[in-house]
Amino acid sequence: MTTTSDPLHALYTDEAEVRSELARVQDICHGCRQCIDLCGSFPTLFDMLDRMSKPSAGLLTPAEQDQVVSECVHCTLCAVDCPYGPQQNDRSRNGSAGNGAAAQQADVDVPRLMLRARAMQFEHGHLAGTGKKAARVLARPDRVGRIATRVPSIANAVIGSKTGSRRRRLLARLTGVSADRHLGTFAAQRFSAWFRERPTIKLHRRQAAVMVFPTCLVEYQATSIGKDLVKVYERNGVECGVSSARCCGAPLLHAGDIAAFRKVAEKNLSQLATEIRDGKDIVVPQPACAHVLTVDSVEHVSSVDARVDAALVAEHTYDASGYLVGLHRGDDYVLDTDFEGETHRRITYQASSHMRARGVGYPSRDLMRLTGARIEVIQEPSGVGGIWSLRTRTDADDSTTQRLAERVAAGTGGVVASDSHLASLAIAERTGMMPIHPLQVVARAYGIPDEI
Ligand code: SF4
Ligand code: SF4
Repeated sequence: MTTTSDPLHALYTDEAEVRSELARVQDICHGCRQCIDLCGSFPTLFDMLDRMSKPSAGLLTPAEQDQVVSECVHCTLCAVDCPYGPQQNDRSRNGSAGNGAAAQQADVDVPRLMLRARAMQFEHGHLAGTGKKAARVLARPDRVGRIATRVPSIANAVIGSKTGSRRRRLLARLTGVSADRHLGTFAAQRFSAWFRERPTIKLHRRQAAVMVFPTCLVEYQATSIGKDLVKVYERNGVECGVSSARCCGAPLLHAGDIAAFRKVAEKNLSQLATEIRDGKDIVVPQPACAHVLTVDSVEHVSSVDARVDAALVAEHTYDASGYLVGLHRGDDYVLDTDFEGETHRRITYQASSHMRARGVGYPSRDLMRLTGARIEVIQEPSGVGGIWSLRTRTDADDSTTQRLAERVAAGTGGVVASDSHLASLAIAERTGMMPIHPLQVVARAYGIPDEI
């Protein structure tokens, strides 16, 4: 059995190897059970094993294993505090307290194992019917976004219609996209077009320069996040450009199409590396996409050139809030803390799973704190780890989303904030409250008006 997480390993998608490795890790998880509340995947696994007189994950059928894998939304959260996982290995290597020896022996890394299992399913044709349809639509958000933003009223009449409605059920049958999830709507003008067409801005005091990697969600749907990002950055002397790189490829990766993902990743890394060599840092307003650029892409590309580009991109790519907080903490930079606009005494903030998994701390919380607000941090995951989790799933366990919604609804903040647009849509779906991005909290605090 191979315990590899290396997508370039010859046995990476070997079905027998992957299924043995799933069984080995699932037995450890069953003994541990720490992640029971993180997603639908763990309770499904534990229910299956608890029904056996002598629980053993090796006795699960391939269909049962596939169901457990299918319920993973690739939020990466189960790696954060796993006592047998990669972070324990890191802590042990760094000499801090940790469970290093046991972790090295157990070698549990469920998020990477789920990516491996998904790649195995894709290669061996185990994607169920709606999964195949969804792979043609959800896995290509650039293509869908380009078409939808040309005819936004038609696109929005379909995807913006009530969840569960006849129109949404028809869409689900045709495309494999869930009829029950809030999908958001498309903008009439793409973020990059807005950026190109606006008057040239003369910076008061140039302190840094970045390229915004807009992500599909900001480029085609939540364009106001990108507009506020640029305005907040420019107010703080950070010159902005918009990267020519395309979708990070997350939906392809999560659908298991690693050959297509590798192609996209190599192209993007080459483009981003050129922009970095030109003196720019890269900022990303969506945490799942930042994770793909700085972690998954690095691990999946194969050529020597692409690996060099990947290392450079990982070093120079930042979450949108993290970049500003990093500058603020440095010695040579002055962040404008003159907040004469709309501020809040308390803000309820849903912390991003992908930012926690990357160990970057809570930069959005720290940035919003500068406005004078007390930040109530909610750690619950959203149950929507990326666009691929919006496919129709007969096995969908939405208790994760529901738990988050209940925590948010009980929050005391005057406003709800989240870095992830998909998490925001999930919260809005259950509570009726649409969170805003932390940079939008800062934009309003500066008195920058909302621009739809
Ligand atoms: S992933 Fe780690 S923490 Fe979570 S249940 Fe498995 S062994 Fe426990
Ligand atoms: S990565 Fe997230 S969704 Fe997948 S098994 Fe781990 S906690 Fe669950």
